[in-house]
Amino acid sequence: MNTNKETINIVWLKRDLRLDDNEAISNALASDHRVLFIYVFEASLETDKHYNERHWNFIKQSLENINDRLKKYNTQVLSVNSEVIPCFNHLQNFFQIDRVFSHQETGLLITYNRDKYFNRYCKNNAINWSESTNNGVLRGLLNRDDWFENWNRYMHEEQFCFQPKTKQLITIEEIAKVATVFKDTNLKTITSLVFQKGGTTTAWKYANSFFEERHKSYLFNISKPEKSRTSSSRLSPYIAWGNVSIREVFQKATALKNEKKGDKHLGAFISRLRWQAHFIQKFEMEHTMENASINKGYHKLKKSISKTYKTAWEIGETGFPLVDASMRCLNKTGFLNFRMRAMLVSFFTHILWQPWQEATSHLSKVFLDFEPGIHFPQIQMQAGETGINNLRIYSPLKNSLEHDENAVFIKKWCPELADLPINFIHEPYLMTPLDMQFNNFELGIDYPNPIVDIKENRKKASDILWNLKKNPQVRSENFRILKKHTITDRNNLLRSD
Ligand SMILES: Cc1cc2nc3c(=O)[nH]c(=O)nc-3n(C[C@H](O)[C@H](O)[C@H](O)COP(=O)(O)OP(=O)(O)OC[C@H]3O[C@@H](n4cnc5c(N)ncnc54)[C@H](O)[C@@H]3O)c2cc1C
Repeated sequence: MNTNKETINIVWLKRDLRLDDNEAISNALASDHRVLFIYVFEASLETDKHYNERHWNFIKQSLENINDRLKKYNTQVLSVNSEVIPCFNHLQNFFQIDRVFSHQETGLLITYNRDKYFNRYCKNNAINWSESTNNGVLRGLLNRDDWFENWNRYMHEEQFCFQPKTKQLITIEEIAKVATVFKDTNLKTITSLVFQKGGTTTAWKYANSFFEERHKSYLFNISKPEKSRTSSSRLSPYIAWGNVSIREVFQKATALKNEKKGDKHLGAFISRLRWQAHFIQKFEMEHTMENASINKGYHKLKKSISKTYKTAWEIGETGFPLVDASMRCLNKTGFLNFRMRAMLVSFFTHILWQPWQEATSHLSKVFLDFEPGIHFPQIQMQAGETGINNLRIYSPLKNSLEHDENAVFIKKWCPELADLPINFIHEPYLMTPLDMQFNNFELGIDYPNPIVDIKENRKKASDILWNLKKNPQVRSENFRILKKHTITDRNNLLRSD
């Protein structure tokens, strides 16, 4: 061992890209050693089928934002292109690493395995790896008996402050020296990508405008594809990548709700902050959900894959206007409200009768807020393969008439329909040859014919799935799932939302 090397601590940033209320950073700063912050851009993740350029762009913007704030401490995050273990091997040539601090990650199988290898690496290299609880999601739980009380307590606890001691952070000059051994990494982002911009500063702009004004129509517009874009918080990418902690948002929302004597919009918003952890907790306790239905009774359901259907769905060319508008909007902007996300999954798994596993990577790639712990459980729930939730087969037409009555959203994303009379925008497939001639529009040329008979397919899916609900294995699995994941609320705290 080279004793000339300085002993330091490292904060390994993952999906916690912020300085405030960051327990990993706070724990590192509590020690007497100097501290280095690192972010590792892992090729294995960059090329993973669930990720997309838009995610890496968001991460880079988040790191730039952190670096801006770190300037006054003469430091920055060491951002490197490397796998994690080679990265630490390099770092050990410069420093003696005492401890690594990070947050527990409820991620994909690939990150779970990487963390297992890293844990072993730390043990072999006499490095102590401390992982903090992330947003109230607990590791190693067998049931949810005290889950809500613990989550609630965590949300009310004092936040961690970013308070480095004088000269405690490894300097920019030292970081520059270390960086030379890594493949060139810069935080240059692709400016042509027009998504919500990453970083804590932007996160708080969204949060503040929501708390000041936008929340006032939160519940009124929550199901509407166009209006919800401004009346919901739009905090999901900032929460997913950790630009803000749930606790910071929760405490701000709770204070405002109390000030406004129990505002129902804020109450509904706060419930969703809890759902965030609830879903991630479920995934933490059932990690096989990435590839298989949580309810084993559904493993016998075999669906054949149609490449044609899948492609039409992915590019928004199914011939069903609200489905196509939703997908095109998502592909382009990275955001869609909850109901339209659910409808897209329902359309794919019920109407096109495709396995939900075929939907996961396209959706995760295009959701800027991709969060594995919400993504997989939600997709399975909307596919109707949990057994414990109501089976909902969304009707694109009903949703279009109810939530986009003037077709503002459809016209924006399917401009080829914009000049048609409103009834045909909702249902272009009802046009007769004369209607088409009159409107100078040709179904099949200007806009696709419906790729399936929706009524017939809906009935088939409904019959099969309702029948399966009665299957003994589905039922016994329901019992197991409910026993493991139902939240006990002994003190009726959930009612106070
Ligand atoms: C198939 C499907 C996949 C989804 N995948 C993701 C995902 O990868 N990442 C993600 O953050 N959300 C996901 N959601 C949940 C939800 O659609 C989004 O969180 C929400 O639309 C984000 O908008 P917002 O930030 O304006 O939310 P708001 O309504 O303002 O809610 C505030 C926060 O609460 C959390 N939240 C809201 N709704 C839910 C919910 N139903 N379940 C769990 N947490 C919720 C989010 O963190 C959100 O930012 C998915 C929903 C479906 C149906």
